Amino acid sequence: MSELMVSVSGVRGIVGEGLTPEVVTRFAQAFGAYVKKGKVVIGRDSRVSGEMFKNAVCSGLMAVGCDILDIGVCPTPTTQLAVETLEANGGLMITASHNPIMWNGLKLIGPDGLFLDAEQGQEVIKIAESKSFSFAAWDKIGVALKYSKAIEEHIQAILNLEYIDLAKIKDRGFKVVLDCVCGAGANMVPQLLDELGCEVVLLNCEPSGLFPRNPEPVPENLTELCEAVKKEAADIGIAVDPDSDRLALVSEKGEPLGEEKTLALAVKFILSKKSGSVVINASTSRVTEDIAEQYGSSVVRTKVGEIHVAKKMREIGAVIGGEGNGGVILPDIHLGRDAPVGIALILQQLAEFGGTISELNDTLPKYVITKDKVELQDLDPKAALEKIQQAYANEKLDFTDGVKIVRDKSWVHIRPSNTEPIIRVIAEAPTKEESEQLCAEVKKQAVN
Ligand code: MG
Repeated sequence: MSELMVSVSGVRGIVGEGLTPEVVTRFAQAFGAYVKKGKVVIGRDSRVSGEMFKNAVCSGLMAVGCDILDIGVCPTPTTQLAVETLEANGGLMITASHNPIMWNGLKLIGPDGLFLDAEQGQEVIKIAESKSFSFAAWDKIGVALKYSKAIEEHIQAILNLEYIDLAKIKDRGFKVVLDCVCGAGANMVPQLLDELGCEVVLLNCEPSGLFPRNPEPVPENLTELCEAVKKEAADIGIAVDPDSDRLALVSEKGEPLGEEKTLALAVKFILSKKSGSVVINASTSRVTEDIAEQYGSSVVRTKVGEIHVAKKMREIGAVIGGEGNGGVILPDIHLGRDAPVGIALILQQLAEFGGTISELNDTLPKYVITKDKVELQDLDPKAALEKIQQAYANEKLDFTDGVKIVRDKSWVHIRPSNTEPIIRVIAEAPTKEESEQLCAEVKKQAVN
């Protein structure tokens, strides 16, 4: 199983190298044994390798006696929600999220619709490695059924949210340019926007899996969307990643807001409706902390990774949470990052605000975040982190996840990626110069 990233986020690998049908089948068998048979929901993003891996997953699950509910090409949050609503024993989402086209993987979902945590994931890995699962006899093999209503039910759940005033959103008649990067969002988001009365200009909305650009919805990958927003004189540009759990926005001026602003806006909106605590990960912008302070709400930070945030939200009964990479988690629907939910909240917020998305963005506290990385190659991540810890020993350090150096109005966070062979370096400060300098300084220490 070399060249395979096995982590709290699931399993990811390059198709035909680390990730083969054999590996995927074995993980599906192990997962089937872990959930003790019963119903398992299967969804996938639109990747070209998705159909092949779906067949491998189905074989693996059926062979150990699981019944399958195949909900087709859909967002990750749709699969999570379907596990809950269909009362399944678990779910498997076949996706490599924002990773490039040559990748694929599995996200493992428990019966509560949450991803498996590290301990639970370890158990599946152990079963997979030791092959300690038993095969069903010919008359105990699972059955595979298709379930075609998961997307429709997800959309309905969003429209039924107490915060959504359909008439008010429709009244604004937003013109939206939508970029689904030819991912799974294309099977859901256009329909959601249609229900919200938007005039939608579709960009990369064929769910072909042939991503026309780097699929991560970060500003440098959204130039086509920015141009289209300007050309179409649209009110807003919307980008989602291939499995549609991350959401990024582009202003009516054709400028990316930066994916950190997605969660900040959603938090501001929810806290204006409901008081309660907020959970974000260690790398999320402090804009959210400032907003929470304005509303007298507390913020709890967790390790990076959806499951850490989701579990903490459940534990303390948070009203909203998420990750700064564009992942909004609204517990009213389910405890998973959900781009379609984020879209509905932000359009409702914009409708109530009355002005443009730029004006709304201007109401947020100003910080600049710089995201950089160090390629690991021969570098030992542990040694690199220790070097940084020593170099900054006199400062305020936080070890929630990797090392975070916390200053008065700025911070820099260094942690090994869960999904790629890199160390992430993220800094935030009141100005671009300061935040870039912080990143550069720490990077230098890491490779020294
Ligand atoms: Mg994703």
